[in-house]
Amino acid sequence: MTSITPPPCPDCSTTTERIEVEGEEVWHCTAPGCSRRTYGTGDPDDDDNLPPYTETDEDGAAVCFHGTGEVDVEATAELAAQEHDEDEDQDAVPLTAPAAAAWEPEAREIRVKDLAHVLAGGWVRIYGDPPEGWRHFTEAAFDPEHDTTVAITYSDGEVEREWPWLQALLVHAGPETVPTTTRPGPARLVPR
Ligand SMILES: [Zn+2]
Repeated sequence: MTSITPPPCPDCSTTTERIEVEGEEVWHCTAPGCSRRTYGTGDPDDDDNLPPYTETDEDGAAVCFHGTGEVDVEATAELAAQEHDEDEDQDAVPLTAPAAAAWEPEAREIRVKDLAHVLAGGWVRIYGDPPEGWRHFTEAAFDPEHDTTVAITYSDGEVEREWPWLQALLVHAGPETVPTTTRPGPARLVPR
């Protein structure tokens, strides 16, 4: 194959460089501070299929990216929560300031049934009258073919069944900090 002219970065028009991601030929932007990746087909929709990837930043924290080079805030927070759980015994130091500030977890509106997709656990606040407070859960099980309710296992060991369509707020964060928000947006975590 003869050499191909690198396509310009779709975001900043800087010349890109060829890299290989999971066996695929991908172009990545060479401009400082721009992490854009592209297939270079000229069709921006094609870039939605780029494989996501993970990198380690200067502080040694893993950062997840969408295939296009955009930070995947949710996956990064989930990964950080997982890693934190694993080395919890060493020293219970909370996330260092830059990492915590950069990826302040968000409270997101979901349906209770969606908790079954949250593999690392997290905080949930189920809407109601009166609303339940924030509770940390480790897992939730729901098989729409067989179950009429979602079985939520909380960190204190209690298992409660809730209706799948109830609305709730979800925060991807470990049990060492508790969210204080009551609506979607920054979780405003505080140490317990
Ligand atoms: Zn760029």
